[in-house]
Amino acid sequence: MSRTVVVVGGGYGGAAVAKALQEEADVVLIDPRDAFVNVAGSLRALTRPDWAGNMFFPFDTLLTRGTVIRDRAVSVDPDGVTLASGRRVAADYLVLATGSSYAYPARLNADSVDEALDDLRQTHKELASAERVLILGAGPVGLELAGEIKDVWPDKHVTIVDPAERLLPDFESEMRDDLHRQLDELGIQVRLGTGLTAPPTTEASRAGTFTATTTGGEEITADIWFRAFGLRVNSDYLTDGRLTTLTPQGQVSVTETLNVHGPDGILGHVYAIGDLTDVAEDKMAAYALRHAEVVAQNITAHLRGEQVAATYRPMPDPMILIPLGSRRGVGQMPTPDGPAVIPAATVSEYKGVDLFTGRFTEQFGPTAA
Ligand SMILES: Cc1cc2nc3c(=O)[nH]c(=O)nc-3n(C[C@H](O)[C@H](O)[C@H](O)COP(=O)(O)OP(=O)(O)OC[C@H]3O[C@@H](n4cnc5c(N)ncnc54)[C@H](O)[C@@H]3O)c2cc1C
Repeated sequence: MSRTVVVVGGGYGGAAVAKALQEEADVVLIDPRDAFVNVAGSLRALTRPDWAGNMFFPFDTLLTRGTVIRDRAVSVDPDGVTLASGRRVAADYLVLATGSSYAYPARLNADSVDEALDDLRQTHKELASAERVLILGAGPVGLELAGEIKDVWPDKHVTIVDPAERLLPDFESEMRDDLHRQLDELGIQVRLGTGLTAPPTTEASRAGTFTATTTGGEEITADIWFRAFGLRVNSDYLTDGRLTTLTPQGQVSVTETLNVHGPDGILGHVYAIGDLTDVAEDKMAAYALRHAEVVAQNITAHLRGEQVAATYRPMPDPMILIPLGSRRGVGQMPTPDGPAVIPAATVSEYKGVDLFTGRFTEQFGPTAA
């Protein structure tokens, strides 16, 4: 019986599916990168270059039995994948897990660990020389970046600007109050309900002094700025419509079993997981990992000739962990009694101390550091 499982994208979801199925099937993992990237570590990798290697887990050690092809999918159809190199990879099962992109440094531009580390070291140098930092976007990424910067350089002036009227509006007000208190303690300036009248005149993530004006008329002078908004789904390779029709947001529409909707019905052997999908929930690694478990169970059942049974349902309440450096932070977790706001020490314990490095070292082997 044919049992080739082709996984497109080796982020949180794809790497976990590939790892889970390597004993059951002939797994082929396709990704242009040379390592799994623990994206949650990227902002600390910027502020502490000596720590940066901890966010990479080479694919060679992560998969012991499968095949890793370092290439980019340019088209997928129900029978397999066409790669940028022109190579064709035939598949009995397909798992699409190409995730999303975001502005650097939250997401790294380079595909190789060495180049990514060079980029981070360069930006670190430019950030180190900047006295005043402007962050555009007060979502989780902007807040976390501000916290990491203050952890290393408590005296830098950090200002965050966001047109939203409230921080993290979908979360409990108790958590928001705690967040404002900690931001005040750290001396992080937050300007809500306002944007800039024009983008800064310098390039994002590059040193260079500029003055920007907010729509409220305030002038902000800074020596570097970072973009912390604008998630984009990585689904360009599906726009030819040979496999599925993307949603208006560029996402892949999936069923409860995480099978992909094809033009003529559900594709029983094709799955999509993680940030790529139209599952109605925040886009998070924690959810991508849960999708991966469901898909690994369903493909295993198929291979064994058993009934496909695992389904995925989003959690009723949102959750989040936002460290502000290694010791502070805010969070909200689901409990049987509803969402619970958690203290800084717990945020630190779950995420802030090592940004999940320990967890991925257990699962994926040693880091590149
Ligand atoms: C700074 C930051 C901190 C975060 N912290 C948390 C957190 O604490 N907890 C949490 O749950 N979530 C967190 N997230 C969100 C989390 O990173 C994403 O939800 C997660 O990465 C999604 O995983 P994924 O498997 O869908 O895809 P990704 O992790 O985005 O991986 C996609 C992979 O696909 C590859 N790829 C892309 N296009 C192609 C192609 N055409 N062909 C082949 N391969 C391709 C990419 O190279 C990449 O390796 C954070 C995000 C950021 C930016």
